[in-house]
Order: sequence, then C-alpha cells, then structure tokens
Amino acid sequence: AKEGCREGYCFFEPALNQKVRHRLELENRLRTALQKEEFLVCYQPKIDLASLRTVGVEALVRWRRPGVGLISPGEFIPVAEETGLIIPLGRWVLRQACQQAQRWREQGRQLSVAVNLSPRQLLDPDLTRAVAEALEESGLPPEQLELEITENAVMPSLELALGRLAELAALGARLAMDDFGRGYSSLYHLHRLPIDILKVDQYFIKEMTPHSRVSSIVEAMVAMGRSMGLVVVAEGVENKRHLEMLAGMGCHQLQGFLFSRPLEPPRLEDYLAREEAA
Ligand code: C2E
Ligand code: CA
Ligand code: CA
Ligand code: CA
Repeated sequence: AKEGCREGYCFFEPALNQKVRHRLELENRLRTALQKEEFLVCYQPKIDLASLRTVGVEALVRWRRPGVGLISPGEFIPVAEETGLIIPLGRWVLRQACQQAQRWREQGRQLSVAVNLSPRQLLDPDLTRAVAEALEESGLPPEQLELEITENAVMPSLELALGRLAELAALGARLAMDDFGRGYSSLYHLHRLPIDILKVDQYFIKEMTPHSRVSSIVEAMVAMGRSMGLVVVAEGVENKRHLEMLAGMGCHQLQGFLFSRPLEPPRLEDYLAREEAA
C-alpha cells in the first residue's frame, strides 16, 4: 500500500479503504434487509414463439431499500454471493417463486417458473433438500420448476456440480443453461450436463443484425440446442426484427423487453389478462 505500515499498523489507500467500507456496509444492510423481508420477486414472461403466448416466467429478485428505492440484483447479488448471504436469500426466492407459480396454477394458469442459482448455491450441500422442501410446501409439480445455472457456476468444480445437477434432475425439476455462450469452455462440457433448456445469452441477441456473423453464431447455437433435444430460449429480445430472425432459426421461446420487463405479480397478471384478451 502507498501509505505503507506505520508503527505496526497497516493503512489502506483511502480509495481502497472506502471501497472496503462500502462493501461491509452493504453486507450489513443486506443482512438486515433479509430479516426485514425488504426483497421482492419480479417475474418476466417467457413467450412460446409458435403461439406467441406466455408459457413461463423467470423469477428475478429486487431489493426495495427504504428511502432509496428499487435496487437491481446486479448491485447486490455479487456481494450476497461473496458473503454467503446468497444461501438464505436464494432459498427465500425459491420458496416465493414456487408459491407464486402454484397460486397461478390454482387460478388456472399453467406457467413454469425459472429460478436462478448462483455458483455458491450450486455447491451448497443442502440445495437439493431446500428445493425439495420448496416444492413440497408449495405443492408445485416439480416439472413446473426450472433451475437456471451458468457455465461459470459449473466449471470450477465440475464433478461436484454434476452430482448436484443429477440430484436436482432426480427431483423432477428442469435444468436450464443460462447465459449460454458467454462463459468459458462453452461446448467442452455441455454434453455432460443433464440440462433440458438452453438460454442463448442476451449479448448475442442484442448484437444480431441480418446476415451478420453474430446472427450466424445464434443460428448455430439454436440449431445445436434443437438437435440436442433442448428447449432453446433467446433472452434480451427487444425488437420485432429479432423476433422474426429467431422465428426463422427455429428458436422455441423468447424473453425480453419486446414483450415485457420483469413485473410484480399483480402487474404480471394484468399482462396475462391482456394477452388472453388479444
Ligand atoms: P439473468 O439471469 O441473465 O436475468 C436476465 C436479466 O436480463 C434480468 O436482469 C432481466 O431484467 C434482463 N432482461 C430481460 N430481458 C431484457 C431485454 O430485452 N433487454 C435488457 N436490456 N435486459 C433484459 P436483472 O433482473 O437485473 O437480473 C440481473 C442478473 O441478476 C440476472 O441475470 C441473474 O444473474 C441475477 N439474479 C437475479 N435474480 C436472482 C436470484 O434470485 N438469484 C440469483 N442467484 N441471481 C439472480
Ligand atoms: Ca437467468
Ligand atoms: Ca431432466
Ligand atoms: Ca441470462
């Protein structure tokens, strides 16, 4: 450190010191937020391309911080992940999502619900039990639950992750590879993972223009997913041109702002009602 060590005490550079303090503060705030239930789960529709109807939703957590407003997961999930708070937070999201999907089922709406699992959650030895409990307690049929994992969650300890995924698949939940194409060693281990769903990373979708290299890559990913017997989902679909290109490629499901942003349950119900009326 620039300040060095004086009289046996080490001093951080002021900038670093501030960063560490900020992080610690955030960690403490997250801990109390969890106790006070300041989190909420929003749901983003997943649209079947053939019927243009919502067939499922992805659960995405937000933090409603009093006096501040809605904080996006990009800002707190990494800290929750580093500190281990993701374990209790992730369980809470899982329970909420299963209960909500079951409530919709009871209203006559058959929607699958997708829940994100971070690397740390995937390695948690209690994960399978937590998923089993969330299913049991909600009454949601296991095949209605999708668990989204990323390549980066699987690769650092592949054998352990493979074991965990096999347990989750045995419960009857469906597994999705999220952000496909963004992580490392994309293809190398793919055939070993017991996944049912492939979600093409939104970066590729956003960059897609007709006859471009990016669109060739997307086309190849969709074709590969299809021939592996997977349901292929494109994320980050923001315009009609992308919808049309993806339809031509044979993509199964779409998710993106073209259809809807992630919504709180009452707003999602409004969206579904409009869709049903259309
Ligand atoms: P993700 O799993 O890749 O989720 C998709 C993200 O893309 C969401 O951001 C969603 O709002 C956004 N998105 C969807 N369609 C579009 C679009 O058309 N355009 C644009 N620009 N964005 C779109 P969000 O909700 O901010 O979540 C960010 C990330 O935080 C998620 O990425 C996921 O990795 C993580 N995350 C969110 N909720 C949870 C959770 O409950 N548990 C864990 N472990 N991670 C979560
Ligand atoms: Ca996801
Ligand atoms: Ca399966
Ligand atoms: Ca994603």
